[in-house]
Amino acid sequence: MISVEAARTHLLDLVSPLDMEQVPLAQASGRVLAEDVCARRDQPPFSASAMDGYAVKADEVEMHAMFQVIGEAAAGHSFSGKIEAGQAVRIFTGAPVPEGADFVVIQENVSRRNNLITITDDPGTSSNIRPCGGDFTDGQRMTAPRRLRPADIALLAAMNIPEVPVRRRPIVALISTGDELVMPGGTPGPDQIIASNTFGLKAMLEEFGAAARILPIARDNEPALRTAFSLARGADLVVTIGGASVGDHDLVGKVAADLGMQRAFYKVAMRPGKPLMAGRLNQMAMIGLPGNPVSAMACGHVFLQPVLRRLLGFDQEVDRFQSARLAKPLPANGPRAHYMRAAVSAGEITAFSNQDSSLLTVLSDANALMLRAPNDPERAAGDMMSYIAI
Ligand code: AMP
Ligand code: MG
Repeated sequence: MISVEAARTHLLDLVSPLDMEQVPLAQASGRVLAEDVCARRDQPPFSASAMDGYAVKADEVEMHAMFQVIGEAAAGHSFSGKIEAGQAVRIFTGAPVPEGADFVVIQENVSRRNNLITITDDPGTSSNIRPCGGDFTDGQRMTAPRRLRPADIALLAAMNIPEVPVRRRPIVALISTGDELVMPGGTPGPDQIIASNTFGLKAMLEEFGAAARILPIARDNEPALRTAFSLARGADLVVTIGGASVGDHDLVGKVAADLGMQRAFYKVAMRPGKPLMAGRLNQMAMIGLPGNPVSAMACGHVFLQPVLRRLLGFDQEVDRFQSARLAKPLPANGPRAHYMRAAVSAGEITAFSNQDSSLLTVLSDANALMLRAPNDPERAAGDMMSYIAI
């Protein structure tokens, strides 16, 4: 049995960053930028008005000053002339500020009569001009790796980058194992249950940036498992669920070994999730998760996410732990790390009283996995505890 940290290190050694590909900007949301990209222009590309008003010379701006309006500048339509003393150009938001002007008096602060305006309200000190390159300048970088959020997509568009270099999406094949399992929507026999883990894990993996494929359920016999592994071919990572303990029907380890898996480890000192195995199977990394639904999901958070981050080209693990004040005392922890289902609210964390690893209702109510290190002593209310938000 190895520690969670040792298991994570082994897992990271099983994978390396995937190739990159170019995708159209409109399909780049959620993808991971694989190479730095540089702005291809200044934004704004000219000094632009931030308001609707009148462009004038700043040193002529004072209460009751009068100007002659000599033309108009609108977004996409610049004024081609030059502003001289005593002149103004009607201007709208986003329009280039005409030559000779360096101040925009907002329209609410002037009164207009024919082509004459008078400043009637305090115009303030802000020029209401967005300087050329004030947002970004030509050549400015967006650095990789970076998971592209909607705001990043908008920025890339403004930088005039129509195609984005991203990491190929990791392909993960998910195999549920068990004679007792039926797909959601199926008709379970009296001794059967619905396969839930594959669906929860698919959702989780996709949140982490992978493309997950749910393979047909493998029954608890060797030919069925061999078939399932053959269907996984082409994936970057194959994840099995269940069948990894030491029961008579737990055949995943044996079949994987027969197929040539080089095992990196088996069994991790953690709760939930002890019977975890991993290795390399041909071109794929293989992770065998425990079957209990909460164990499978907790292992997903603790182990699958770092593996995916590495596949996606993030070299350093971010510190995923946050901390909150313990609301109720806890007894000492045993020798295995414990990821307790917990609720965090307003900076306080409370562990659910029932930590049975088969209870999906508790997991669904939880928004945190609270970490207890091996042999963590008794904890009092008010102690600061680490957790992973889920
Ligand atoms: P196992 O590791 O195969 O012994 O499974 C442990 C427990 O998890 C058993 O109660 C299984 O019925 C259950 N289980 C295994 N796989 C799944 C799955 N995909 N969805 C829901 N429950 C499962
Ligand atoms: Mg089983």
